[in-house]
Amino acid sequence: MLDSQFDIAIVGAGMAGLSCAQMLHQAGYKVVLIDKSRGLGGRIATRRLQGTHADHGVCYLKPKSSKFQSLLNQLVDRKILRVWTETIHELKEGKIQPSQKQAACYAAMNGISAIAKFLSIGLTLRLNHRVERIEEQNGWKLYCESGEVISANAVIVAIPAPQAAMLCGSWIEELKSIDYSPCISAIAVYPMERQAEVERLDWKAIVCLEDSDLGWIGIDSTKQLNPVQPAIVIQSNARFATQYLEDSDLQQVGEHLLKRAAEVAEPWFNCPEVLQVHRWRYAFPINPISEKYFVADTSNPMICTGDWGDGNRVENAFHAGIATATYLNQQLNDRTLPTAFWMQI
Ligand SMILES: Cc1cc2nc3c(=O)[nH]c(=O)nc-3n(C[C@H](O)[C@H](O)[C@H](O)COP(=O)(O)OP(=O)(O)OC[C@H]3O[C@@H](n4cnc5c(N)ncnc54)[C@H](O)[C@@H]3O)c2cc1C
Repeated sequence: MLDSQFDIAIVGAGMAGLSCAQMLHQAGYKVVLIDKSRGLGGRIATRRLQGTHADHGVCYLKPKSSKFQSLLNQLVDRKILRVWTETIHELKEGKIQPSQKQAACYAAMNGISAIAKFLSIGLTLRLNHRVERIEEQNGWKLYCESGEVISANAVIVAIPAPQAAMLCGSWIEELKSIDYSPCISAIAVYPMERQAEVERLDWKAIVCLEDSDLGWIGIDSTKQLNPVQPAIVIQSNARFATQYLEDSDLQQVGEHLLKRAAEVAEPWFNCPEVLQVHRWRYAFPINPISEKYFVADTSNPMICTGDWGDGNRVENAFHAGIATATYLNQQLNDRTLPTAFWMQI
């Protein structure tokens, strides 16, 4: 059995964990970032299928703060992101119409998970490592499903609050008060002949505000520079996902979403070449709170963070990661932290 020693172990390689890890790594700490998945990014997720790809989690980024805008500018410079559209459409009273609120919406040309790959450069990673148990013993011991035991002086848990509650709930009771709504995503790919029909559309994405089942319809392939094959992503609303989350036939649930999208938007949506379905058990915090992190009352530092501080978006996870790194650094050596870690990658 492997046993490795670090200054800081961070559980969860989504935006919160990645930004926190980069900052602390750049300040000179020996950091390890652990994730149960094979890939990085958590809900910043891209599915590769049928010679193309589609983002079945985060769809686009719309910055509110100057810091997040600066990160996005850097990702544009690195040719990872570009402004995808300034107009998201809305489905209201059965009609598709442009939203009144115009703003730059950024998306990734080759899949949004490229953001996570960029933010992970230089980090020590343990992927495919589900942390099953954390114990305080001369620092912290993190017991992974793989059999590896990771030792660290401080631990940061950057995973959705209900999952964090399973690992750290005995130290941080507040985690139990944050609930998440689920979402079901259907990813559909169409034959190349349909590309001409995509080019005729005057919209790229629709937010479905009042639909019984749908939350979002996005022509995901329009994010690419030279798309050859249409790919769409449909997301359910929370009510629909709650009803069908445990359904044993998820494919049929996806077909239902596609049929509904065909009814409200384009009839050809109902004839995909490939349809895949993904279930997000913890999609959006329902009741975000003002704290960006919780600190355990333990001898060695333990902090939980995530997208539930002040909102439920990637930008909130980014600020939570930065705030957590800043707090932990003050508790440890108070080293000089980078002011804009994304500029040093
Ligand atoms: C369908 C969908 C669409 C969305 N659309 C948008 C959008 O358009 N714009 C936007 O800004 N936001 C969007 N969001 C919200 C956004 O995805 C999140 O707010 C943000 O990505 C959360 O980041 P995080 O780091 O807090 O958590 P996560 O991204 O969930 O990362 C947590 C990580 O922890 C890992 N993990 C969990 N448990 C363990 C364990 N025991 N051991 C090891 N690893 C573990 C997971 O594998 C995951 O990689 C969307 C979310 C969903 C689900």
